[in-house]
Amino acid sequence: MTTINATRTGGSVVTIDGETFNVFESTIHGDVFTAESEGYDRARSVWNGMIDKRPAVVVKCRGVSDVINAVRFAREHDLVLSLRGGAHNVAGHGTCDGGLVIDLSGMKGVRVDPITRTAHAQAGLTWAEFDDETLVHGLATTGGTVSNTGIAGLTLGGGLGWLMGKHGLTCDNVISFDIVTAGGELITADADSHADLFWALRGGGGNFGVVTSFRFQLHDVGPAVIGGMIIHPMDHARELMRFYRDITADPPDELEVYMALMTSPDGDPVAGIMVGYNGDVTEGEKQIKAIREFGSPLADLVQPMPYSARQHMLDDFAPHGPRRYWKSGFLQEFSDDVIDVFVDHASNLISPMTGIPIFNVHGAATRVAPDATAFGHRIHQWDIDIVSQWLDPEDDERQIEWTRKFWGDLEPFAGETVYVNHISEDEPSRIETAFGLNYARLRAVKRTYDPGNVFRLNHNIPPG
Ligand SMILES: Cc1cc2nc3c(=O)[nH]c(=O)nc-3n(C[C@H](O)[C@H](O)[C@H](O)COP(=O)(O)OP(=O)(O)OC[C@H]3O[C@@H](n4cnc5c(N)ncnc54)[C@H](O)[C@@H]3O)c2cc1C
Repeated sequence: MTTINATRTGGSVVTIDGETFNVFESTIHGDVFTAESEGYDRARSVWNGMIDKRPAVVVKCRGVSDVINAVRFAREHDLVLSLRGGAHNVAGHGTCDGGLVIDLSGMKGVRVDPITRTAHAQAGLTWAEFDDETLVHGLATTGGTVSNTGIAGLTLGGGLGWLMGKHGLTCDNVISFDIVTAGGELITADADSHADLFWALRGGGGNFGVVTSFRFQLHDVGPAVIGGMIIHPMDHARELMRFYRDITADPPDELEVYMALMTSPDGDPVAGIMVGYNGDVTEGEKQIKAIREFGSPLADLVQPMPYSARQHMLDDFAPHGPRRYWKSGFLQEFSDDVIDVFVDHASNLISPMTGIPIFNVHGAATRVAPDATAFGHRIHQWDIDIVSQWLDPEDDERQIEWTRKFWGDLEPFAGETVYVNHISEDEPSRIETAFGLNYARLRAVKRTYDPGNVFRLNHNIPPG
């Protein structure tokens, strides 16, 4: 019999006797890990190697009943509770010290209806796994740009991706959510039922319960899309960024153009333009001609490719495990001065793994009213990220300091707004700003569905 010492929400420690714990374990069809279990270290690990937490229990759920029993157990003992899908959360909220983790990564069921072009998908899927099921029908929805990101956390925060100009954010494509509430009940939230919760789940993050499955609208993506990267030397980055600013000022919905400042495999600082076109390939070739002809690139890797290949294109930049520190914001004015800040810092990267991606939010993603979903940042803008990555723990302080200095110089241009899924662990003061004009309404929905703030280990919205 395993006796558990676990952390309560108020910080005190509770001892759960072996018999009580065994009864709980017997209700779970999936796997239950404690510090004594084989596989505990794998079960507690998340994408960001800086997050090294030791939960008392990890419940790897196999189905909805496991989720319900785990929520009820956590509530009964007032345990610190964290939720995990793809484990990619930048702030590491997918794990905790001393509490209970509900890990949905064992729940990967998906059923596609090619007639209605919808997919019912369980919350433990990654984008790679989800795409594999929809693409056999030539269908997809807006998904993350790195394929091993979880569909759950990304969708609940909003969801920026290669189809957002044409089909909106990921959350704009959700038709319904199945969710286990703080009371341990399974309900469905959609436009007609629990409409306030349906609104809040489209951008409000993991604040309202455990989503067990999503129903998504899918779209035809055809046999091939245009994708790939064009790489320029960092010496030309200033001109390239000005050009990038101009071509992304008002792009067609079908055209996605992102940028990244990074280090090449040969160790040289480079600036990359990442291109995607979602539509007729011949028309796409015309649309990207000026991008391909700009300057003297070191390499042009743009080509027609299957949608799935574009979804995997950036995977190598984001392996599971290295140490990370991340700063992010939205940029509304792409001035020459801000370009100078980007290039000055990116010319002196102190880790070859570090990258500075820039995403253009445009088209359908911006034509939704700011208060129509909880994701309120519905204007044309750029999402900018400093993603510092390194391997040696001894280097933590230097890397964090470098990232903060870079951000300190960028922040005056970026203003206060930020994508909730890109907030770091040490930035709780940015949460309210991230939800912006929707914050008060989100607090009211939280009060209805989770008045005791059971789901608090997230970018937390306190009950209003
Ligand atoms: C390499 C990388 C690439 C990324 N690329 C993109 C991108 O292209 N577009 C984009 O929009 N974002 C992107 N992000 C940010 C990403 O959206 C967030 O990190 C998101 O939290 C990841 O979701 P997850 O399920 O993998 O994470 P997890 O760490 O498993 O979960 C994150 C949080 O989401 C909530 N959550 C997870 N599952 C559930 C559930 N079933 N029910 C309720 N709440 C839940 C919880 O609060 C949890 O703490 C990227 C992140 C990384 C690390």
